[in-house]
Amino acid sequence: MPDYPTDPDCLFCKIVAGEIPCHKLYEDDRVLSFLDIGPLSAGHALVIPKGHYETIDRVPAEDAAAMFRIVPALSRAIMRAAGASAWNLLQNNGEAAGQAVGHVHLHIIPRPAGSSRDAPIEGNGLPFNWPTGEIDHKKAGGLAETIRQYV
Ligand code: AMP
Ligand code: ZN
Repeated sequence: MPDYPTDPDCLFCKIVAGEIPCHKLYEDDRVLSFLDIGPLSAGHALVIPKGHYETIDRVPAEDAAAMFRIVPALSRAIMRAAGASAWNLLQNNGEAAGQAVGHVHLHIIPRPAGSSRDAPIEGNGLPFNWPTGEIDHKKAGGLAETIRQYV
């Protein structure tokens, strides 16, 4: 069992510790998955590392790998149970990005039949037709070069 940091005031750390109940879907020594208490659709699930890390950019690579390792099997199981054939993987980092719980998590959100890029799920939100911009190729080369140096 790896050693991981915890925060006694964190909601998801309390779920990991069994102090707050959850509808568990999967658990291993690094990762826990459970149903979201405020689902966008039936089967909406969260995948969290057992360690307390606020955002994905702070997660050790082994724990990030462990989170994503289970996503294919878990998403197949969720879609099978929910009768969905499409799903979104959503992940918010920081308050400005819409993160409400400061313990990193992946959202697996099945899209039920009838849902589409433009249509909300059963009136619960998540339309997906976000307004996109256009890449500025003159600036993009320099930006990509800078990012490559930072990785
Ligand atoms: P985010 O906005 O990405 O931080 O998402 C936080 C998610 O945690 C929301 O979808 C909440 O519905 C969910 N959530 C909050 N409390 C609980 C809980 N006790 N059990 C399961 N999910 C929760
Ligand atoms: Zn935590």
